[in-house]
Amino acid sequence: MRKTLGLIILLFVLFTKLYSEKPIEEKVNFIPEEKKAEYLFDRGIGYYNLNQYSDALNFLEKANKIYSDKQDFHNMSRCYNNIGNIYNKLNIFSKAMEYHLLSLELEEKLNEEKGVISSLNNIGNVLKNIEKYEQALEYYKKALNLSYKINDKKSTAITLNNIGNIYLSQALYDKALDYYNRSLILKKELQDNFGIATTHNNIGISYQGLGSTKKALQNYNTSLTMMKSLKNGNGIASAHYHIGITYYEKNDYKNTTVNLEKALAYAQNYDNKQIMISCYKILAEIYSKQNKHFKAYTAMKFYAKMKEEFFSIQSQKQVAELQIRYETEKKEKEIEFLKTNASITDVRSRENELLTVILVVLLIAVAVLGFFFYFQFRQKANSNKIIEEQNLKLTEAYKKMEELAKTDILTGLSNRRDMYQKIKHETDRFERNEKPFSILMGDIDNFKKINDTYGHDAGDHVLTKISELMLTYMRKQDIVGRWGGEEFLLLLPETDIQGGKQIAEKLRLRIKNEVIEHKDHTINVTITIGISVYDRIHDVNESIKEADKAMYFGKIRNKNCVITADNI
Ligand code: GH3
Ligand code: MG
Ligand code: MG
Repeated sequence: MRKTLGLIILLFVLFTKLYSEKPIEEKVNFIPEEKKAEYLFDRGIGYYNLNQYSDALNFLEKANKIYSDKQDFHNMSRCYNNIGNIYNKLNIFSKAMEYHLLSLELEEKLNEEKGVISSLNNIGNVLKNIEKYEQALEYYKKALNLSYKINDKKSTAITLNNIGNIYLSQALYDKALDYYNRSLILKKELQDNFGIATTHNNIGISYQGLGSTKKALQNYNTSLTMMKSLKNGNGIASAHYHIGITYYEKNDYKNTTVNLEKALAYAQNYDNKQIMISCYKILAEIYSKQNKHFKAYTAMKFYAKMKEEFFSIQSQKQVAELQIRYETEKKEKEIEFLKTNASITDVRSRENELLTVILVVLLIAVAVLGFFFYFQFRQKANSNKIIEEQNLKLTEAYKKMEELAKTDILTGLSNRRDMYQKIKHETDRFERNEKPFSILMGDIDNFKKINDTYGHDAGDHVLTKISELMLTYMRKQDIVGRWGGEEFLLLLPETDIQGGKQIAEKLRLRIKNEVIEHKDHTINVTITIGISVYDRIHDVNESIKEADKAMYFGKIRNKNCVITADNI
């Protein structure tokens, strides 16, 4: 009797589980075949906008499957892009990266330039989130070049703003300002009022970082006025909040209170928890300084309560994230298991046998369920196949990324990361043959002035030309890399400091005599070079620092010269 009861409960549980997983298919069956994928895609985006990422993923993956069956690459890339964005929101950055790279690959194949730009920006956003600012910048700059090339103002404005955000994260406020201002000009041309208002807010934050309170306040106020006319509650809250913080830094409690109370009211209306929490905290501090004990107490109470709530929301988000991580891992394990381990398959199939017995009973008891089981198995096999195909594509995408990660996008030279590997290679060689090698650190003189006089494009052109010159001028065995903005690192194998000095001097003269043409201008460039040698007495990093020091020494000495480390 108990067994029968147990079986019935088991059947019930299995039945409800199966049934609860089905509604998507049932609904989709009412939709005409050719509209199914679109319907699934739209629902995925809908859930995405509601921050329900697990459901969003489910729908987008289903839409993607239909599109990939039809070989509809355009829509596949849209799916990849949005799936990538979801993983980015969930902080699962490696997955986000994979999907954005897949999307980039398709868009490049299809020659969809705007899509390529948006993927490059998305990849940049992922890299920014994992604090790989230099790499993010490389992607953004590639996006920027392409936006300029196709003359698309909207993409340009977005990309400039993204670059500004990177500099803001690095607390390089004057650089951030430069990019925000350039973005602002375009947004004004495009009459993108929301964009303009947001950028003014960012410009305000940058000025605040630079200590220019007055300019910060001007920009926050412009943002505030615009957000008000746009009736954008979150924007109004954010502007008031930043104005409040600025007054707080100046110990002007009256204006702080006025603004934070307004920010709080808007944040409450729009359920902007982060701003609410920050406002309560500062208000509580101010009220208590002013001996307004009841108000201080109330604000503090709200602060504590909200913080607790906020963290429980955060932890709910973390639970969702963990669930998705778990499911992803499970899928990957399944593929691994099918591909490589036949013996495990045996063990697993024995485990499955027991399950099959239960299923057979289930089939007899509820004949209709048989159909559902069959359908589920078939679907699983299909999705495994798709995952395998996607894995193959991912491997290719990774290879491409490896290659991209080595080169500097603007000049095509080795980037800093690749140079480190080459330096390591040289030190290994030194261990074998004991022949010292020279390190040259070259920095273009007054480069900022070139940018300011002829424009950033001209600056880029100069960097490209000087890189080409170095590549053709240096000996075959020498290694040239871009170390930073307008800094180049050169390795001269089996060359002592005297030899290095002669070569550097020749290179300096060659650059000085080069006339670079850009549009209607001719530009003259000089370079200051510092030299050191690696002979194992010091660590190689110290040798690089010495070359750098020598270069700076040259900058102090009127620039356009070559200085060896032993001269300082
Ligand atoms: P110094 O002679 O002392 O080296 O002065 P400088 O002006 O060359 O050096 P500074 O460090 O003041 O300025 C370097 C400038 O290079 C600032 C930055 O905007 C610009 N820069 C960095 N990377 C790039 C790039 O990829 N393209 C362009 N066009 N400019 C860049
Ligand atoms: Mg310079
Ligand atoms: Mg420099």
